Amino acid sequence: MKIIEMPSPSFDTRGGCAIEYLIFHYTGMQTAQAALDRLTDIKSEVSAHYTIDEEGVVYRHVIEDKRAWHAGVSSWQGQDKINARSIGIELVNKGHEWGYHKFPNAQIESIKILAQEILGRHDIKHVLAHSDIAPTRKDDPGELFPWEDLAQAGIGFWPTEEEAYEGDVYEALSKIGYDMTDKPKTLIAFQRHYVPEVFENNTQCQICDLTRSRLNSIFKGMA
Ligand SMILES: [Zn+2]
Repeated sequence: MKIIEMPSPSFDTRGGCAIEYLIFHYTGMQTAQAALDRLTDIKSEVSAHYTIDEEGVVYRHVIEDKRAWHAGVSSWQGQDKINARSIGIELVNKGHEWGYHKFPNAQIESIKILAQEILGRHDIKHVLAHSDIAPTRKDDPGELFPWEDLAQAGIGFWPTEEEAYEGDVYEALSKIGYDMTDKPKTLIAFQRHYVPEVFENNTQCQICDLTRSRLNSIFKGMA
């Protein structure tokens, strides 16, 4: 795919870590230009490998061999150093703070192509949201990110309908990989990714049957 080079000085080496994660973000800034400026400004000390704007244009900031600085303090399945183990993609979107909105089709089409290429290049084991790996701090890319659509394109896992999981939900979330420092925030992070329906009627942070059903499917998918 066509990629515009827009290098960032904010990167270093992976220190020998293998690339096992693909992490999606939103930029959470008022304009695409503001986000691109920040991701390429040495003073900000943040970056990502790629940014995709709302027209579907893909910008590369850091080559995949190098560690970009997008995840911050984060973990999954007890593993830290997620920056060293991941490729990070930023999607231009104002985010919850400035006016969160649906990701346009052109942007989604580019996400799919880029992610499929990345999955073809590396042995990626986890396709996750920033909010999955940092549930106490982060909400991105949020409940409007089309995870189900991406899973149909071979990117990540989408749960099928199963009977409701009957065990302890928080224990299950921990086993899946979530940090459980703040249980309600972690439950909401799980729902942003896998049960976005609860945000339509503002029932997030309730342990509903749909949440238990999707949780059960993810457990079976991990086995
Ligand atoms: Zn993020």
